[in-house]
Amino acid sequence: MALTIGVDIGGTKVAAGVVDEDGRIVENLLRPTPAQSPEKVAETIAEVVRELSKGRSVEAVGLGAAGFVDETRSVVRFAPNLAWREEPLQKKVSDLVGLPVVVENDANAMAWAESRFGAGRGETHLVCVTVGTGIGGGIVLDGALYRGRWGMGAELGHIQAVPGGRLCGCGNLGCWEQYASGNALVHEAKEIATAEPGRAARLLEIAGGTPDRIEGQEVTQAAGEGDPAALAAFSSIAGWLAQGLADLTAVLDPGCFVLGGGVSRAAEFWFDEVRDTYARIVTGRGHRPPVEIRLAELGASAGLVGAADLARRL
Ligand SMILES: [Zn+2]
Repeated sequence: MALTIGVDIGGTKVAAGVVDEDGRIVENLLRPTPAQSPEKVAETIAEVVRELSKGRSVEAVGLGAAGFVDETRSVVRFAPNLAWREEPLQKKVSDLVGLPVVVENDANAMAWAESRFGAGRGETHLVCVTVGTGIGGGIVLDGALYRGRWGMGAELGHIQAVPGGRLCGCGNLGCWEQYASGNALVHEAKEIATAEPGRAARLLEIAGGTPDRIEGQEVTQAAGEGDPAALAAFSSIAGWLAQGLADLTAVLDPGCFVLGGGVSRAAEFWFDEVRDTYARIVTGRGHRPPVEIRLAELGASAGLVGAADLARRL
């Protein structure tokens, strides 16, 4: 069976694996990302590819990169959490390993994996929303990954949700990811705990008594113990998520949404509310066939599986 290698390069970890035609990971490994040096990142990728290729015939390599990738799927124009600026990643890695290489945005690679092998199997029109620290997005239309004119499409986290709202890492104000992500969850919880400490009694206790120490883990634990402030913080991001999905439906008319990322691990506190609110507000409701909202199935390996499968299609 033909094998390809997928490598998912994030701000802190490089996750790589040999993947077969059915999206199964045959062997995988993990390395820290030498984030400050583009040369070292390329060398690390080459090392993991060589290691995984030992004793195997590998056809091609797919790289999932946390950044803006150009329309030729070769150059990483910019990466917020890595030192890549106009980085010719495809050529560098291809020269080092002697195999065909394709570069894809990591969220796009995840969406592709979910559409091929995960929660979106069999769907031709799908939007994948990765709810982590921020929001990542990937869109599959007519069975193909939608990349936009310059390869920079599907940056869903940066749709403006609130005019003049919270400052985003991208430099704009009020982006969706400032209201509907893991960071937003923590922001909401801190605000409530500061304004109404009585309502956040358990949350504050878990966080050592001060709102500044509240992180996602504390909010999840407190929600599990019924803390009203933690539950309200989850409810807030559920509302913003539902609104964003409804807006995306108005534009793209997908058959299904797949929600993944770190926040989806605490889905019991927000997922039903997203579905209910979405059904209540989506335009054309009552006349539109139901759009399914599902949780992602492939977890943290989605990026490398998707990148490997895209490499197969070179
Ligand atoms: Zn933004």
